[in-house]
Amino acid sequence: MPLPLIYHDDYSPPFPADHRFPMDKFRLLRDHLVDSGLTCDQALLRPELCPVDILALAHDRSYIERYIHGELSREDQRRLGLPWSEALARRTVRAVGGSLLTAEQALQHGIACHLAGGTHHAHYDYPAGFCIFNDLAVISHYLLAAGRVQRVLIFDCDVHQGDGTARMLHDTPDAITVSLHCQQNFPARKADSDWDIALPRGMGDSDYLQVVDEALNYLLPLYQPDLVLYDAGVDVHRDDALGYLQLSDAGLAARDEAVLRHCLGRDIPVMGVIGGGYSKDRQALAKRHGILHHSAARVLGYPQ
Ligand SMILES: [Zn+2]
Repeated sequence: MPLPLIYHDDYSPPFPADHRFPMDKFRLLRDHLVDSGLTCDQALLRPELCPVDILALAHDRSYIERYIHGELSREDQRRLGLPWSEALARRTVRAVGGSLLTAEQALQHGIACHLAGGTHHAHYDYPAGFCIFNDLAVISHYLLAAGRVQRVLIFDCDVHQGDGTARMLHDTPDAITVSLHCQQNFPARKADSDWDIALPRGMGDSDYLQVVDEALNYLLPLYQPDLVLYDAGVDVHRDDALGYLQLSDAGLAARDEAVLRHCLGRDIPVMGVIGGGYSKDRQALAKRHGILHHSAARVLGYPQ
């Protein structure tokens, strides 16, 4: 089985180097995956921009237009926390296209991983927490509307609750939203996912992995989704600047491997997006995100 990897050079546009959001991590992740021998640049799949009509399956059209043209209100700018630029707007639309391509590849090959994605705080008509358009909600609406799938399950392991996804898919019964997050982390006011698994501050590898295993053993047979959208946020790591959980590198690898094996073992296609991860040490952060892609290769039996 091949491991399709999705990336575009638009992903890391020029950006203030000292900003809390590490915009260069996507390019550094690409470099890490090439340098570590997992892939080569020519093998990476480059996505198109996501068409506005597809974004509009999940988002308010005037919000989409406002963002693309740099016309968000001051309040929305504050909630977003990212300075607008044309390059960032193009990056944002491109990255949703990337998640879309990742979904298509996963449906075709059984598995695919994005080198971006997981913008789960974005809401129907406003941004939040560094997230502008919600790729997980867009893909779910698109695949369901196109009849490509009967049911999707979003397994969101970012340390922050997938509140935007939960709200945007609240009235879509064939998109099951599952969020494993630290209760004490952002957002303070949580939404209602179909399944919220709130974890206490400080939880480490073994307790966390047990929760992941139990959740998947219960939820996958219960819903039998046609695609799992896996948000492999690394802000659960003990060295993350924002997350309050305490996973190690080995714990992250074990988590990613478990999620992917649970899906593939049941013949359920799975797509991975990288989700959140925050650190001043950008190289360490890129490597941490790359655990997802290396775990996927390991699950597929590639020599490491
Ligand atoms: Zn996060």
